[in-house]
Amino acid sequence: MDTKQKRPNIIFIMSDDHAAHAISSYASKINKTPNLDRIADGGMRFDNCFCTNSICAPSRAAILTGRYNHMNGVKTLGDKFDSRQQTVQKIMQDKGYQTALIGKWHLGHGGIHNPTGFDYWNILPGQGDYHEPKMFEMGEEKNYQGYVTDILTDLSLEWMTKRNKDKPFMLMCHHKAPHRPWDPDEKHAHMYKDVDILEPETFNDDYSNRSAAAKEAAMRIDRDLTIRDFKDAPPENLSGQELKSWKYQRYIKDYLRVIASIDDNVGRVLDYLDEEGLTEDTMIIYTSDQGFFLGDHGWFDKRFMYEESLRMPFLVRYPRAIKPGSTTKDFAINVDFAQTFLDYAGIAIPADMQGTSLRPVMEAKTPDDWQTSMYYRYWEHLSSEHKVGAHYGVRTTRYKLIYYYGEALGSSDAVDESRTPEWELFDLEKDPYEMNNVYHESGYCETVRMLKTELYRLKTKVLDEE
Ligand code: CA
Repeated sequence: MDTKQKRPNIIFIMSDDHAAHAISSYASKINKTPNLDRIADGGMRFDNCFCTNSICAPSRAAILTGRYNHMNGVKTLGDKFDSRQQTVQKIMQDKGYQTALIGKWHLGHGGIHNPTGFDYWNILPGQGDYHEPKMFEMGEEKNYQGYVTDILTDLSLEWMTKRNKDKPFMLMCHHKAPHRPWDPDEKHAHMYKDVDILEPETFNDDYSNRSAAAKEAAMRIDRDLTIRDFKDAPPENLSGQELKSWKYQRYIKDYLRVIASIDDNVGRVLDYLDEEGLTEDTMIIYTSDQGFFLGDHGWFDKRFMYEESLRMPFLVRYPRAIKPGSTTKDFAINVDFAQTFLDYAGIAIPADMQGTSLRPVMEAKTPDDWQTSMYYRYWEHLSSEHKVGAHYGVRTTRYKLIYYYGEALGSSDAVDESRTPEWELFDLEKDPYEMNNVYHESGYCETVRMLKTELYRLKTKVLDEE
């Protein structure tokens, strides 16, 4: 490794709702992503990267601030980001980096909610549109022709081409895809036309032996998707399991088609780096703001602390420091990203950031006392669209303990329904798909006690007192 390396450029590509199990590096059973795999093959794949609150805006706020949602003020989709607070991009800009944000922002728009700390920003308002998107370039409204994923990549390449080549840069390219309603472009609209995509193992989950929260959630493939999602009305001659399978095929094919466009466009960025001789000096990351249910447990969407939603894909390539083709099971969380960037940029890390730089893991020097547990909290409650009850919990290497506390505590949903609080415990070694809540089994008494101690230790450590 070159010890006198220059400060790296950082390209942070984040898509929206792209689950790790729809990436071939992560052994996806349903998808091939050759260009995302180029990042993994040339660098490191994180197998245990987790989101601290599995929903769009809160994850973005955690990434930019390196602080948990009760600290940065964005606990729910309804909360807007106060851009006067400290962010990684402001620090990087102040210390000589050129900074840009292109794509989804989703943290409020206008006034103190506009992005700050970026030399250039051009954002989609709210969720943004797949076709002919409207954008706000440094606050000025513009209309673009074409498909959003291509446009965001065009703008990213254009910005890199025009940059000052004497200074390092940090570019954040935040794709809208593959967020609902999964509208593919022309080029990929007919992929998978004549094939059936495999249904997941837990597709017909009946939510027995789980919390009432799982049963109550309104994100079922067979009940809660709409004609807008399917693009056509379901055939009238189908019912029951056949109709559910038809709906899944409609959903998952469009989901994979919009990802195919992301994969192509990530390939364009990688080609550009090669052509410009930037590959060696650039750290490029591919991640998503959280995971997603791909028919797992019969669901779409995210929110729950269950594995498919909790896990973020995280692929990173930086040839000067990271061994090609490496993988790690060491824990990483979205709150760690900001500190990682600062560490590689040689910038002192502010004491009030709450994560840990991932640099030692990336460089295969993980210390013995590395984090082996993570704290999760989802604040939205039953008045939100998908009716997933608020919960917090802890995940360790083997177990997951979740507490559905039954109230809209501390969220902006001031008036909401209450439920009887309930606990779930999963033994991930014996039950990787989380189908069997063992919280009440006598053999797990001591495990529950230890996990509760760890949960409250983490809660106190991250200063989440409510
Ligand atoms: Ca999202």
